[in-house]
This record gives sequence, structure tokens and C-alpha cells, in this order.
Amino acid sequence: MVFKEKELTVLQDRHVQHMNPSRSLAESILSALKQCLPTNDRPIALHEPSFSGNEWKYVKECLDSNWVSSAGPFVSRFEAMLCDFTGVRFAVATVNGTAALHICLKAAGVKPDDEVLCPTLTFVATANAIMYCNATPHFVDSDETTLGVDPKKLEEYLRLKATVRGGECHNTATGRRISALIVLHTFGHPADLDSLKEVCDRFKIALIEDAAQSIGSHYKGKHIGHWGITSGLSFNGNKTITTGGGGAILSNDKAVADYARHISTTARLPHQWTYFHDEIGYNYRLPSINAALGCAQLEELPSFLEKKRSLAERYRIAFQEVEGVRFFVEPPYARSNYWLNAILLDPKAGSRERDLLLELTNSNGVMTRPAYVLMHNLRMFRGCPRMDLSSAESIEARLVNIPSSPSLA
Ligand SMILES: *Cc1c(COP(=O)(O)O)cnc(C)c1O
Repeated sequence: MVFKEKELTVLQDRHVQHMNPSRSLAESILSALKQCLPTNDRPIALHEPSFSGNEWKYVKECLDSNWVSSAGPFVSRFEAMLCDFTGVRFAVATVNGTAALHICLKAAGVKPDDEVLCPTLTFVATANAIMYCNATPHFVDSDETTLGVDPKKLEEYLRLKATVRGGECHNTATGRRISALIVLHTFGHPADLDSLKEVCDRFKIALIEDAAQSIGSHYKGKHIGHWGITSGLSFNGNKTITTGGGGAILSNDKAVADYARHISTTARLPHQWTYFHDEIGYNYRLPSINAALGCAQLEELPSFLEKKRSLAERYRIAFQEVEGVRFFVEPPYARSNYWLNAILLDPKAGSRERDLLLELTNSNGVMTRPAYVLMHNLRMFRGCPRMDLSSAESIEARLVNIPSSPSLA
């Protein structure tokens, strides 16, 4: 998109009376972004899907076979490909990532009235899935160097606030059981899994990975999804690969995976004709027509990952030259999928500077967006237990996601 002199002037006029020095920061950032991005005559989206492989072919095959819903052949093919790609032994494809997380929690043993630790810096689906189990989210802080749950702070907090008895962890203040921790690999950057797993083991808490944003991301050389008892993936339209809508549960534990599959498929016992269900189940399996898309997308994933890394590298270099902001680079232990690239304004900046940047970039055809509004600030979760969340608050005030589609590379 051509530089819109007029819009920029309007913005400048609006802020000029404050003589705001960050006006030039926003301009420098916009110009660094434009250096990295193709010149388009339409706005550049944050993350767009690419369908340049076998998508049409497989969807047609699926329609021609007449098996379009969950019993169709593409579902097990997609699941086998997911296992192959991640190295995790079992995969259960679901209608979306939120449903996958809901089942992950149940399969990991979360019960009504439990508390589940969860970062406040996450997409709402994480906290919603906890509520679907009639459990209570208990919000924990994130670390600015990883954007994931801060293991040190979590350990100190649990040492003060939790009691382990009978092989279970309890919140000393509320008396409720703390049964699980969900960690997020934020924008594709793996959380510090070894340290978090250690804390969970010490306090007898089940670890679950919200891997919705992180297919293709590796922690210390191994694909994410191996640390949690279960992990949830998402294949929504804005994620690294998409099935339209879709998700998957991963687990290395056969009993856990079998149970997840069972309750995602209405808890029906296998039989040639009898419809017998042994508990309240869910209709959460992915239809075959979506799985057909997924098979084609997984074939393309290695090339998407390469393109996304090269775009990230271009950003990294361009932002070295801009003072007052840094491009978020994968933690040293990780190889990230760079699902959504992010920049962080310097700590002295505040949300006003961030908003100015959002306004300038979006009005100039470069789509950007802030981090999620933190969970503990949403009305539904205001009464939930939480630790000091100052790092997440600081990150939220300063982080901006920038265009990240593989097609931009
Ligand atoms: C996308 C996402 C999900 C799942 O989303 P669906 O749209 O239901 O597939 C869950 N958690 C996080 C952090 C996500 O980004």
C-alpha cells in the first residue's frame, strides 16, 4: 500500500500538541516494517493461510469417497501424519483447539472444583476450557525472555501458597486441589518446559501444553508436545497450518489418548450396531473433509516454517536499527515456528505509545495487533485466584504482533 501522507498528517496533528517523542518511534517502526514487507495495494494481514499444495486434490478425493464426516479415512491419515511430524505417539483430531484443550484437561484428571494454573497472558480459549470442566483458573505470571510461564516465580509462589498432601497439591488459602498447570508456547515460542515440568513434578501437578500456536516448534531439539501429559493443537484459519477449523490432542500415554478419543466420540463403546455410551461424552471429532485439508497442509508445513523463519530473520535485522524497540527472538533453547512475530517497546514506553503504533500501522495498510487483554482483567475471570502478574502486565502494555504469513517471505 502506498504511503498515505494525509492520514499520517491527521495522526500527527492529533498528537502534536503533546509533542510526543514516540510519534517518531511509531514512524520508525512503520518504516522498518515496510522495508521487510512486499509493496501491496491491499492491506497486509497478520496471518493468512496458503493453499498451494494438494488441498484441492484431497478435498475432492474426500467428496468423491462420500465419507465426509469423522468416520472418513482422512482423519486417521491426518492423525498418523501428526504423530510422524511431532514424534508424539498418539494424536486425536478434534473440531477445534478449544475442544482439544477441554478434553486434555479431562484426560489429565481435572475435576469440578479443582483449580488449574494458567498464564494470564493467553488467548481466552485456555481459560474457557478450564471453566468447561467446572474448575477455576488460577492465573500465573509470564517471563519476558520466553513469553511463557515463569518457572522460578511459579515455584516460589507454590512454596508459599500450596500444600502437598496425599500426593496432591492444594491451595492453602482456598483448600481446593490444584490439579494441573497449562503452559502456553506464546506466539510459537516454547516455554521453558524442563523447568516447568520439574516444578509440576515436585508439587504433584499435571502438566498440559497449550500447543495451539506452536506446531513446528522445538524445545532443546525435540518437538513440543512431549512434556505435557496431553497437549492441544489448533488448526484454525489464522494458525500456522489450517483445516478451516480444527485441533488435535497429543499424548505419549496410550491410556490417556484412548480416553481422550473415547470421550471426544460421544463415549460410545465400539460395537457393530449397538449405541451404548458409558459416560457423558462430546461430539468433538474432526470431520474427514477438514482432515483432508490438514493432510495437504502438513505436507507443506516444512516449507511454511522455512519461509516464516526467513521473514523473522528479515525483521530481526531491520529492527536492530530502530531504537526503543526490540524484535522478539526465540529463547536460546528453542527453535520456534515464529507463528506470530512480535516486537516489544522498551520498558519506558507505555500502552499509549503502543496504541499510537497500532493506529499508525493499521491505517497504513500494515495489520498489527496488541497482545490479548490479560485473562484476570476480563469480567468472567476477575474473581479468580492469582499471583502477582506484573511481568504479564508489562508485556501486554508493550507488545505488538506484526504480519507473519509465510507468503510474505
Ligand atoms: C488458537 C488458540 C486456541 C484454540 O483455538 P481454536 O480457535 O478453538 O482452534 C487455544 N489456545 C490458544 C492459546 C490459541 O491461540
